[in-house]
Amino acid sequence: MAGIYIHIPFCRKRCHYCDFFKSTDFSFKSGILAGLRKELESRAAELASDEINTIYLGGGTPSALLLDELKDILDTIRNNYLVSPEAEITMEANPDDLNQANLTSLRQMGYNRLSMGIQSFAESDLKLMNRRHGVMQAVQSVKWAKKAGFSNLSIDLIYGLPNQTLEDWERNVRIAVELDVQHISAYNLTYHEGTVFYDQLKSGILKELPDELSVQQFELLIRILKDAGFEHYEISNFCKPGFYSQHNSSYWKNKKYLGIGPSAHSFDLDSRRWNVSSIAKYLHGLENNESYSETEILTEQDRYNDYIITGLRTIWGISEDYIRREYSEKYFVHYQKIREKYLKSGHIAISSGTVTINSNGLFISDKIMADFMLVEAAK
Ligand code: SF4
Repeated sequence: MAGIYIHIPFCRKRCHYCDFFKSTDFSFKSGILAGLRKELESRAAELASDEINTIYLGGGTPSALLLDELKDILDTIRNNYLVSPEAEITMEANPDDLNQANLTSLRQMGYNRLSMGIQSFAESDLKLMNRRHGVMQAVQSVKWAKKAGFSNLSIDLIYGLPNQTLEDWERNVRIAVELDVQHISAYNLTYHEGTVFYDQLKSGILKELPDELSVQQFELLIRILKDAGFEHYEISNFCKPGFYSQHNSSYWKNKKYLGIGPSAHSFDLDSRRWNVSSIAKYLHGLENNESYSETEILTEQDRYNDYIITGLRTIWGISEDYIRREYSEKYFVHYQKIREKYLKSGHIAISSGTVTINSNGLFISDKIMADFMLVEAAK
């Protein structure tokens, strides 16, 4: 079982909060598409004995590509990898790129899940974030997608936006519920260095929302979505029964994945690899058979810490047996010490040897994960 992630590094416009690797210069598009094809073909041996269960086109903005280009990417994968007939094939899409005709074509090509970057149902928020779409476009694109046959739709929302009241946020969440989608990802706004929002915060144009209000927004989100039948299966992710993002779940469950395209990350159980975050260097490397990535062999400490931070993010948690079996004794001793501390404070739960962060612990999940990790200085 393995996954393939393809990074499409183009956006028509930069959103003011976003620090993903992307370019607004589409003149490199044909070069990148040829590069993606070449990388997919040249790395097929890495997953020669694995069935591909998930394919994920992210970015950037995959929906900014033409239909033929999106078909070519899927064809290249199918021609070079063993793709399961039931594979989850997700594409990230922005509402302003979508219409009834192209959604119908995408569904016919085999894309069966859309992750739609909606972020807010308030025009003022969309403007502040420099999003390209409006509220009506977002609502309409969900309706078109359903009509085109997509029965697995996810929408992204952001809370903690400047000036966003609890009532504003409640309205967003309720509209998302009314749209009757299968999956909602909701992220607390982060001011990343290098973004317009970061600069505006530093210069006093924007004011950060108080932490208490962001926490209230998160609590409200959990309550409304729970009442609406969503399962809170990862810190920022909620789904109707059975509609987990299989691709993202495989990141959290320590499964292999191949990352294709500039800035994409790969994981093969023993090592992590990341492609260079530069279109020019990526293409130069591919064209001249030179390296365009770095690789890190994972130490036991890396593997233990990865297991902790990916497992504790989810309802699947971390397994006591697995830690005892897979890692040296010192990791198990450390795990037991921290487990006792948080069982006593009531922030985690344990059931059949599996530890999960409970609703009390959700708001300090970063601290809990950091405590469970073991970081020793290299000798
Ligand atoms: S949020 Fe999405 S559309 Fe906006 S700049 Fe980032 S990658 Fe591009």
